[in-house]
Amino acid sequence: MKYIDEAKINNLLKDAARTAPAELDRILVKTRTLQRLTLAETAALLAVEEPERLKSIFAAAAYVKEHIYGSRIVLFAPLYISNICANCCAYCSFNAKNKMIERKALTVEEIKEQVQWLLQRGHKRILMVAGEAAPAGKTNIEYYVESIKAVYSVNVGPHRIKRVNINCAPLTVDEFKQLKAAGIGTFQIFQETYHEGTYRQVHTSGPKKDPDNRIDAVDRAFTAGIDDVGIGVLLGLYDYRFEILAMLMHIEHLEERFKVGPHTISVPRIEPAVGSDLSRNVPYKLTDDNFRKLVAVLRLAVPYTGIILTTRETAAMRDELFSLGVSQVSAESRTSPGGYTEGDEALVKDTQFILNDKRSLDEIIGSLISKKFIPSFCAACYRKARTGETFMNLAKPGTIKGKCSINALITLKEYLDDFASPEVKQAGYKLIEECSREFDEKTKAELAKFFAAVDRGTRDEYV
Ligand code: SAM
Ligand code: SF4
Repeated sequence: MKYIDEAKINNLLKDAARTAPAELDRILVKTRTLQRLTLAETAALLAVEEPERLKSIFAAAAYVKEHIYGSRIVLFAPLYISNICANCCAYCSFNAKNKMIERKALTVEEIKEQVQWLLQRGHKRILMVAGEAAPAGKTNIEYYVESIKAVYSVNVGPHRIKRVNINCAPLTVDEFKQLKAAGIGTFQIFQETYHEGTYRQVHTSGPKKDPDNRIDAVDRAFTAGIDDVGIGVLLGLYDYRFEILAMLMHIEHLEERFKVGPHTISVPRIEPAVGSDLSRNVPYKLTDDNFRKLVAVLRLAVPYTGIILTTRETAAMRDELFSLGVSQVSAESRTSPGGYTEGDEALVKDTQFILNDKRSLDEIIGSLISKKFIPSFCAACYRKARTGETFMNLAKPGTIKGKCSINALITLKEYLDDFASPEVKQAGYKLIEECSREFDEKTKAELAKFFAAVDRGTRDEYV
C-alpha cells in the first residue's frame, strides 16, 4: 500500500518489545512537553503491558488532554443519508451482497425532516454518512452536494446546523472542490486497515477494492483545498499496534507533502452488523484494556490531533476515555437512513451496526456535566477559516484554548436555555458559573457580554 512501509513497522514492533525501562521513562517525560512522539517511541509505549507503567501512560495522556483541550468535549450526530453501496466490505451490513437489509437513499425532503428532528433536540453539528453508490440518475458528488445544501437550508427558529462533516467514498480532486464549495467542514475517510494483505481480503469487489485509491483520497482532498481531514482505522481487522504505527506513517506522509496532518483521528471497533459473519467473529478483537491503552498512546503520539469516539462504544467506556484523550463524540446516533424519525425501531432495523450507547443527547450532556466536562457545539474555527495549518499554528502555542473555552460555554448556555431538561439545566448553569470563575477579569467581562446577548435571544455568536 502506498506510503506504508510494512517491513519498517514490523521491525519497529519487534524492537519495541525490548525497550529498556530507562527509555520508557524518558519517553514519558517527553510526553509532558506536549511534543509529538516518533514512530519508535510510539511503538515502545504500545508494547507496555506492565500495570504500573500503564498507569503512567494514562496519567500522561490525561495531562496532555487537559493541557491542550481542557475539559471540552465536542458533540455531533451522524446523519446516514443512504445505505446503497457498490462495495463488498466483509464487516459492514451495507455490503452490496447483503440481502438482509432494506435499501434506501433519502430524498432532499427526507433529509430536511431528519435535520429538523436533530435541530429540535439541540444538535448543531452533523457528520453525513453514505454508502458508495448514488440513487439512480445521480453521481455520488451530485447527491452529496444536494444533501449538504439541504442540511444547511433547514432552520428551527434561530437554530441551524453550523457544520456538516462528511464520511463518504473517495472522490476526484475536481469533486472534492465541489464538496468544499458546498460548505463541507471535515472530509472523513477511514483506511479501515493499513495492512495490505488484510485490506485485499476484506474488500473483495467494488471501487473500494483498491487500497491505493482509498489512501490517496486524503491527498486529493488536500490538493482540492480541503485542509480539514479526518482519518481512522477499523479496529479488529488486524493487529492494533501495526495499525497505529501505519496510521502515524500515513500522517507523516501528509505532513511532509502538505505541511499539515489530519484534524481528527477515529478509532471505531468492529461491532456486530446484520449479514456480516466477520463482524461476529472479529479476527483481531481488541480487548477493552488494549483499547484504553491505544487511545492514551494516540493522545501522546499526536497531541494536537482530535480523537473521535462514536456510540459504537458503551457509555461507561466513553466516560472513561474522555479524560484519556477523546475530544469529540457522537450522541443520540441512528445508523440507518431516516432513523431519527422512526423511534426505537431504528436502533435495530437496517442499522449499519449495533449501537452500544443509546442515551439521548440530554442524558449524554447531563453525564458530561456531572463529570465536569464542558459539552460544546462550537464550530467557530471552521467558520473563521482557522483550519489546517492556521489551526495548528494557533493550537500549538495554546492560543486556541482560550477561544475554545469561551465558545464552548456560549454554546452550552444556548443549549441549556433552549433544550435541556430541568435537572440538566440546573447542573449546567452551576458548571458554567464554576468555569467562569477561573477566567481573568477581561475574559469574564467578554463572556458576560455574550451571555447577556443570549439572554436577549441572540443565538450563535462566537469568537
Ligand atoms: N461508505 C463509506 C466508506 O466506507 O468509506 C462511508 C460510510 S461507512 C458506513 C463509514 C465507516 O463505518 C467505515 O469506514 C467503517 O470503518 C465503519 N464500519 C463499517 N462496518 C462497521 C461495523 N460493523 N462496526 C463498526 N464500524 C463499521
Ligand atoms: Fe459500503 Fe462503506 Fe459499508 Fe463498505 S463500509 S459496505 S463502502 S458503506
